[in-house]
Amino acid sequence: MHAISSTWDEPLPKGATMGELMEGRFRSYSCFCGQPLLDRSAAQLHAIETNQCSICLGQTRISLVPGTEHGCGYCNVTGTRDAELAEQLDRGKVEAVIDEAAFLRVVEGFRGEAFTQPDIVERLAAMAPEVLTPQLMLRVGQLLRVVERKGVIMRVSAPSGVDGVVVLYDTPRYQVTSSGTRPA
Ligand SMILES: [Zn+2]
Ligand SMILES: [Zn+2]
Repeated sequence: MHAISSTWDEPLPKGATMGELMEGRFRSYSCFCGQPLLDRSAAQLHAIETNQCSICLGQTRISLVPGTEHGCGYCNVTGTRDAELAEQLDRGKVEAVIDEAAFLRVVEGFRGEAFTQPDIVERLAAMAPEVLTPQLMLRVGQLLRVVERKGVIMRVSAPSGVDGVVVLYDTPRYQVTSSGTRPA
């Protein structure tokens, strides 16, 4: 039985960033079979060799930051590597349907007001009913990061922390920047 589990370091180091947490740092990983898993890469490798999803490590749920959890869209909440690979193929199709241009048209509709990932997902779901919600969530998350890096949108709420230890995260809210989606 290869049930892989991960536990957050306690306390988390002061100044731990969202990026570091999401990379899988500040956790220890172990497998029921007793194989040593030194870091996230080792845990991912062990998941793959035991036919489990390389993202949720077979747990079917993902915790990106302490205190939050959601179903793993990468394996359609099954925890298996087979499902993960099938989802990868499907994602190619989703990327063709929800391309950056379609995404930007929806984002532009929120000019002047703050919006969240679920707001965008809701509008896109109406435009592309054939795409399953978990896949839409992943795709929107990916495109939000892409256009945030390009300066089209910016985050208007930051994770909250107490004494430098992350205890609670709000759903990030975004706003279209003044240059926004219009061509320069
Ligand atoms: Zn194992
Ligand atoms: Zn998974």
